[in-house]
Amino acid sequence: MTTIKPPVEPFRIKTVESVHLPSRAVREQVLRKAGFNVFGIPAEKVFIDLLTDSGTAAMSDVQWAGIMRGDESYAGARSFFRFEKAVRNLFGFEHVIPTHQGRAAERILFEGLVKKGDFVPSNIHFDTTRANVEVRGATAVDLVSDEGYDPDSDCPFKGDMNVAKLEAFIAAKGRTRIPLVMLTVTNNSGGGQPVSMANIRKVSAVCRKAGIPFFFDACRFAENAWYIKRREKGYARKTVAAIAREMFSHADGATMSAKKDGLVNIGGFITLADGELAKSLKSILIISEGFYTYGGLAGRDLEAIAQGLAEVVEEDYLAYRTAQAAYLGALLDEAGVPYFKPAGGSAIYLLADRILPDIPREQFPGWALTVALYRESAVRAVEIGGVMFGHKDPRTGKMVFPRLEMVRLALPRRVYTAAHLSYVAEALAAINRHRDRVWGLRIVDEPRFLRHFTARFEEIG
Ligand SMILES: *Cc1c(COP(=O)(O)O)cnc(C)c1O
Repeated sequence: MTTIKPPVEPFRIKTVESVHLPSRAVREQVLRKAGFNVFGIPAEKVFIDLLTDSGTAAMSDVQWAGIMRGDESYAGARSFFRFEKAVRNLFGFEHVIPTHQGRAAERILFEGLVKKGDFVPSNIHFDTTRANVEVRGATAVDLVSDEGYDPDSDCPFKGDMNVAKLEAFIAAKGRTRIPLVMLTVTNNSGGGQPVSMANIRKVSAVCRKAGIPFFFDACRFAENAWYIKRREKGYARKTVAAIAREMFSHADGATMSAKKDGLVNIGGFITLADGELAKSLKSILIISEGFYTYGGLAGRDLEAIAQGLAEVVEEDYLAYRTAQAAYLGALLDEAGVPYFKPAGGSAIYLLADRILPDIPREQFPGWALTVALYRESAVRAVEIGGVMFGHKDPRTGKMVFPRLEMVRLALPRRVYTAAHLSYVAEALAAINRHRDRVWGLRIVDEPRFLRHFTARFEEIG
């Protein structure tokens, strides 16, 4: 019997959506039909879906009321001004440009700033920012602190940038080839770890001194601000909103996917101080996203984001949100299931190569764990390891694997209860006990790009 206390949800349930646990025989059939790729499984056949925390949040009653109040005017809608005010209130920049999601914000910002041959440093670029930098013919550079790659370090701010490396990089390449520096908060591709205010201040000082614009990839800014409040000296008495404003006061702008800390199912934005740049971004926006007071969104979406930004900095919510991941982590500790420490804000990252040490990297232990988890419990998770990031070195012909072989259990916001999480932990404990019943896989069909979405596999049993 566990003595770990579940977090109490700071809401009550007004609407429900049924989920159903398919039988073992059906799960087996579903896996085979999907070619042992959980992306190919229909959501209806998933009991608990931890594939992503992006766009999967439950909206509040007030947000749904906002959906009804949305003003669908083409230009200058009331909902836009409400959205603009909500973003300005937290981010503090004059200009606010809506986009349909985060990657559109990235594409438009980089089209305005980044040229062929440029370099864009970040702590760790998220896949879409990396792709949007590379598509411009530029190079995305990751300069996270060394602890950022160490799954066992209990450093409280493992998302911090290595400032010495950043300074050396700017000195080596010259500032004219670095159109901006970014910081991802929290660091999604590095275990969901936060960045400290001290680090933000230092990165900002380096950028100001060199005359390089500094932007946040702000998707999980509220979770990051919460960790600053809880872990960094001098912030315990400040509100999360005030901490967020202080974070952004050190930067020149931000890109945002509202599908994360906007608490909505679709949306994003760019916000920035520079009026000339804002003007040119708006003209790029009009070509693909639409007029600058709706940017690819409906008025009702803008209304829901405005309300979501008010709710996401509420401390009851953030305490519960981060306690959920910590609770799942504590249950996994008890069962001896290894994961990247400490628990991230929005996800747990399982260390698949330690859970399944008998499966060699060439047989994709992370992928095997996602298959085992679905087979055991109809829980869906995502591999972040050799299938997603491994590739053949074109010169040597040898496989190159990423440093960490992980499986991410992402927690949708306000969707699952503590009982759901304990169900997930029990399934993982069972897999951990019977690891000899998990097999490696080989790829039998592979697309040219982003193979994890559509590749098909067979088990090596
Ligand atoms: C999700 C995400 C993005 C991209 O946002 P989309 O809305 O999915 O386009 C960018 N950066 C980070 C850190 C993210 O988590």
